[in-house]
Amino acid sequence: SGFDEADLDEGVKRNIERCKYVKPTPVQRHAIPIACAGRDLMACAQTGSGKTAAFCFPIISGILKGRSASSSMHRSAPIAYPTALILTPTRELSCQIRDEANKFAHQTGVKVVVAYGGAPINHQLRVLERGVDILVATPGRLVDIIERERVSLTKIKYLALDEADRMLDMGFEHQIRKIVDQMHMPPPGIRQTLLFSATFPNDIQKLASDFLSNYIFLSV
Ligand code: AMP
Repeated sequence: SGFDEADLDEGVKRNIERCKYVKPTPVQRHAIPIACAGRDLMACAQTGSGKTAAFCFPIISGILKGRSASSSMHRSAPIAYPTALILTPTRELSCQIRDEANKFAHQTGVKVVVAYGGAPINHQLRVLERGVDILVATPGRLVDIIERERVSLTKIKYLALDEADRMLDMGFEHQIRKIVDQMHMPPPGIRQTLLFSATFPNDIQKLASDFLSNYIFLSV
């Protein structure tokens, strides 16, 4: 019934308790065990369904479980190597996801950084330089940062696409494909991909078959 039986890292569970999330929403109840088991997932989820936590909890937990004491150190470096990438259509959504991720990464050492378009890039680059585990980004701005060689996606183990249908409606398909091409880990590699969308037209199904490996389809 609760979150306690989920296979999440203890640090994440403490934060779930601290934030008083007592009962998982339907998408969380189904998506979290699938994602914690390492499976790729395509999930149907509307705004307000609790989808953000559904992909953030397993990602933060996976980073903590995969981390040795020394690898949790952040060093200032000109090129950032995030472990997780969350792609979202808008600035507002990327800030909401960053805030939600930070609540559950509290006191774990997992570092969340946001990068979105329509704002000066220099500040975002300076924050990125100080280290990042989870990068939350809009596709256009991320392509810009990649082209400036300030981020490398070669160490990405977790990729989440949030509101994928909205990203395609906004014309981001080319940028998304360019970004995923950077990951050098064609399935079945070590990358785990979680795709969330409110609708499943043909172009989303094509994206799923191109990016996901042996995935589970979840509709709640
Ligand atoms: P989302 O659909 O991810 O935008 O989440 C909608 C809102 O529900 C956000 O304000 C979350 O903080 C909140 N929320 C998500 N999951 C839970 C939960 N299991 N218990 C209580 N609040 C939640």
